[in-house]
Amino acid sequence: MINFAIDLKKIQENISLKAFNTFGLDAYAQYLQTFTSVEEIKEILASEHYANHEHFILGGGSNILFTKDVKAFVLKNEIKGIEIIEENEEYALVKFGAGEMWHDCVLWAIENNLGGIENLSLIPGTMGAAPMQNIGAYGVEIKSVLHQVCAIEKSSGEVKLFNNEDCAFGYRESVFKRALKNKYIITHVTLKLTKMHALKMDYGAIQDELNAQGVSSPTIKDVSNAVIAIRESKLPNPKEIGNAGSFFKNPVISKKSFEKIQSENQDMPHYEQGDQVKIPAGWLIEQAGWKGFVDGEIGVHKNQALLLVNYGNGIGQDIYNLSERIINDVQSRYGIGLEREVNIY
Ligand code: FAD
Ligand code: NAP
Repeated sequence: MINFAIDLKKIQENISLKAFNTFGLDAYAQYLQTFTSVEEIKEILASEHYANHEHFILGGGSNILFTKDVKAFVLKNEIKGIEIIEENEEYALVKFGAGEMWHDCVLWAIENNLGGIENLSLIPGTMGAAPMQNIGAYGVEIKSVLHQVCAIEKSSGEVKLFNNEDCAFGYRESVFKRALKNKYIITHVTLKLTKMHALKMDYGAIQDELNAQGVSSPTIKDVSNAVIAIRESKLPNPKEIGNAGSFFKNPVISKKSFEKIQSENQDMPHYEQGDQVKIPAGWLIEQAGWKGFVDGEIGVHKNQALLLVNYGNGIGQDIYNLSERIINDVQSRYGIGLEREVNIY
């Protein structure tokens, strides 16, 4: 639990990040401070302390593996606020503070009968980190509703607006993870949410879950509830078992490579993506025998091979080394190079 006796608005020195990352890793930050507004972050950027240290922006810590102590100035985003800035009969543009928790924003949208993000229910982390990897689940990505990202350039302190096409969104990718990595602090995200809903229920077990719940004319709230029920039944709660969700991306390979691998693996699940094919990384890892693997305090989750886990006192570097062993093994068995989805520090 976070010790609220600590005033994180002041700079804290040598502080454990265990409560600030969902892997529950006991890495130490050299300095840690929160910011709650654009003005505060601008003040920090102009400070001598900032200029003299490396920096790291932290949201909810649900997509980060700390392999070592963070010898840097950790800045934790706490910018709050939800505001409808424009609306008509069809849609609303809603501006969210980057420090709002993503799932709270989904619930807010549903309460206000605004659709488009119900399939993204129960994803941990902050609004500000959501565009970083173009969060996605159950056939929907933030890309499909993102109107604008507001960010501060670290080097100049200037505010810059990124429209959807400026973000170069891809599969769990964006310009903020690639060309502009570590260059901007996202302060606000504006989403275009619908009043005329187009429900997406054909992905995974959503329709089956709705049937099981006896829902025949679903609303956005019903879809959200179905996604929540499925996720709660399948995914370990990070408060009980440390994890950062899917550790690897699902590889997308050429049809030619796919056909070659499939000739020896007839039962391999796959999803066509234009002229390429997506293979569930979890299946590859499970087939390679890693599901349920335990090595002391760390391992591969017993039900979800895509999740690397910390059972309590694990070490980040050990989790990284395990991921390396899995990558090498899958490469030698299938000739497929798995890529880490989780950010490594
Ligand atoms: P953090 O882990 O704090 O940060 C991630 C990266 O973004 C870091 O590099 C950090 O420096 C940077 N960053 C954070 N905030 C900012 C900012 N404001 N400005 C600039 N840089 C910033 N992801 C999915 O896509 N789909 C899922 O279905 C999904 N399910 C998950 C389930 C579980 C149980 C868990 C633990 C994770 C899951 N994730 C999923 C991964 C994760 O929740 C998302 O990637 C989330 O968006 C991370 O948000 P965060 O605030 O925790 O980011
Ligand atoms: P699942 O339903 O068991 O399916 C396994 C994989 O197959 C998923 O990763 C998914 O790819 C893919 N898939 C399933 N149906 C598909 C379809 N109709 N078209 C294309 N691809 C399809 O997956 P799960 O592990 O329980 O996760 C369910 C959803 O939640 C997925 O969308 C997953 O991405 C998301 N999730 C993400 C994280 C994370 O940390 N990133 C963690 C937990 C769950 P996609 O992953 O590309 O959707």
